[in-house]
Amino acid sequence: MDKSMLSEVNLITNEPLISVGLILPEDKKSSILIEDTSIKKKYRIKVKSDQIIINNKIEENPFNFKSKSKKGTFIIKKIKAGRGFHWEKDITINVTGELILKSNDQNIILVNKLKLEDYIASVATSEMSKSCPSSFLESQTIAARSWVLASAENKHEDLNVDVCNDDCCQRYQGVKGLNESAISSANKTRGYILTSNDKICDTRYSKSCGGISENNEVVWFNEPIEYLRAVYDSKRNAKPRLMSEKELNSWIDNPDSCFCDETEISKKDLKSYLGHVDKMDSYFRWSYSLKQQELCTLIREKAGHYFDSIVSLIPISRGVSGRVNLLKINGYTYSEPSTLDIKSEYEIRRVLHSKFLYSSAFIIIANSSSNRPPDKFTFKGAGWGHGVGLCQIGALNMALKGYSHKQILYHYFLNSKLKRLYE
Ligand SMILES: [Zn+2]
Ligand SMILES: [Zn+2]
Repeated sequence: MDKSMLSEVNLITNEPLISVGLILPEDKKSSILIEDTSIKKKYRIKVKSDQIIINNKIEENPFNFKSKSKKGTFIIKKIKAGRGFHWEKDITINVTGELILKSNDQNIILVNKLKLEDYIASVATSEMSKSCPSSFLESQTIAARSWVLASAENKHEDLNVDVCNDDCCQRYQGVKGLNESAISSANKTRGYILTSNDKICDTRYSKSCGGISENNEVVWFNEPIEYLRAVYDSKRNAKPRLMSEKELNSWIDNPDSCFCDETEISKKDLKSYLGHVDKMDSYFRWSYSLKQQELCTLIREKAGHYFDSIVSLIPISRGVSGRVNLLKINGYTYSEPSTLDIKSEYEIRRVLHSKFLYSSAFIIIANSSSNRPPDKFTFKGAGWGHGVGLCQIGALNMALKGYSHKQILYHYFLNSKLKRLYE
């Protein structure tokens, strides 16, 4: 897409093309196999320094593959999914549109250029199950389309692609397994996006807000964005305010009824709607403990700070949903008092868990006897993810209760407006 066009509502009048990075330089691939199903031809591709060799013949760099027929697809093997996560694996994907192959320092870069709506239907299939209620799928589809067109994150600008194929942007696995409900929700919402002041909204979402969503600046330290304000994830019509530690304690222990509390959705249904869910009782409220030594080890390994012992974890600053974005850790290093500040919601979640802590909306309980450091720290928390924008479990519950996609989107993105860019 032409970046200068993006985010300006009035400048997009036709369905744009989108470039998706399928193989990135960090994948360090020097050979691949691509099959063009329209002519049943296989291409064995190798790169050497800046040369592209296809079926033993040197070709131009970059090289474009265009399918000979409209219905043709390309099959590509060993595409990375879940880069850097514990679920990382290689998958085979089928894509439509065009392929652009580049060689960069012995590494293959493979880009898929396709119509935005085809991309959106694939994302809806890859991220959500077909059994989801339709207004939930439609709100996610509109959110995915707006996010891509707002292009506020622009994570791969250096590669000149709009998005990658992975969780880092939005999961895209081509046309394989494309399901009817995803296609129908893409068709039904074709061209629709969410806007605010004539700009396309950067529609963030996370799994569960925990009952109150969060203001964007608490998580990313950027300027406050009008439509990414914290809201109660319920019918309560008030602006959430900062709570004292005592109020937060009781909110975590005795929450109001919220769209994202899971009392009305069974674990099995949640799994069938959202796919990969962890083995946890609840995302709405959870509890997690670390022994003194485990916490010291995590902090040493993940933040590079050595403590002999840790005395206290003090939340210095929180957002209205209770999410901590500055945490002070006090302890001893070689018997001298020492402290470490962890300075963002993301870092706090990364450092305090061997994988990733569900959210930074937690209170800390440390069982300390008078003059000894605590032997255990317990985190009692709310929600899963950063909590900004749409809450997926909340939106799912709203859809099950009969709310429309418009009602769902307007509930999470304050003062936003649906608009159709193209037919
Ligand atoms: Zn990405
Ligand atoms: Zn929620």
